[in-house]
Amino acid sequence: MLGSGKFFVGGNWKCNGSKESIGKLVSELNNATLEADVDVVVAPPFVYIDQVKNSLVNSRIQIAAQNCWTGKGGAFTGEISVEQIKDIGAGWVVLGHSERRHIIGEDDQFIGKKAAYALSQDLGVIACIGELLEEREAGRTFEVCFQQLKAYADAVSSWDKIVIAYEPVWAIGTGKVATPEQAQEVHDAVRDWLRKNVSTEVASKTRIIYGGSVNGGNSSELAKQEDIDGFLVGGASLKGVEFAAIVNSVT
Ligand code: PGA
Repeated sequence: MLGSGKFFVGGNWKCNGSKESIGKLVSELNNATLEADVDVVVAPPFVYIDQVKNSLVNSRIQIAAQNCWTGKGGAFTGEISVEQIKDIGAGWVVLGHSERRHIIGEDDQFIGKKAAYALSQDLGVIACIGELLEEREAGRTFEVCFQQLKAYADAVSSWDKIVIAYEPVWAIGTGKVATPEQAQEVHDAVRDWLRKNVSTEVASKTRIIYGGSVNGGNSSELAKQEDIDGFLVGGASLKGVEFAAIVNSVT
């Protein structure tokens, strides 16, 4: 843990769940004991945010949306605005996730625009970056991550409410977690990039979290790495007990 501020663990529920299964997950979270010194955020599908908000008794758990529109709401069928996300009580948004980049086709500039608008309205941003397997194999990991980082840096004017999530695409949902050394190497490079291209202060303050097949069995080893300031968890965040174990793996 190097980024100042608390260890940060996000649960990305993606497009999973029903009223019933989400009710069960929230009650598991309500019963869990969570390490006091960790920021805990869960990102339910939009349609369940209200249900989660109203049933979570553990007020320490904050809520994130999984996407937002690039500006004020209006005639944008199917989109959800930052104002609406805030209105419903969420304090964060996940942006630049690889599933939105590679399945939906969002590009760096579009993602940067969303990040800038969300921050301008005081919504925290979990800004995802990460390389594809073929990019890693071609030795392009840093180049790809830096290009995605630059798009955020070009668009935003304040880093106070940004958490960077490094998520190698080959590790997401595959059970193939990056080794602690592989993750640390990229986190260190990201921090160095921030130092050289944004500021020393932003580099030392910004939390850089790791995502990609994090579970209750591997989180403690990953959390020991100097530049890993938390996690973004997909599959394992759908199990309340395991998610709590990941939150509590902070070192
Ligand atoms: P995973 O997903 O933990 O299921 O690999 C992580 C993510 O997509 O944020």
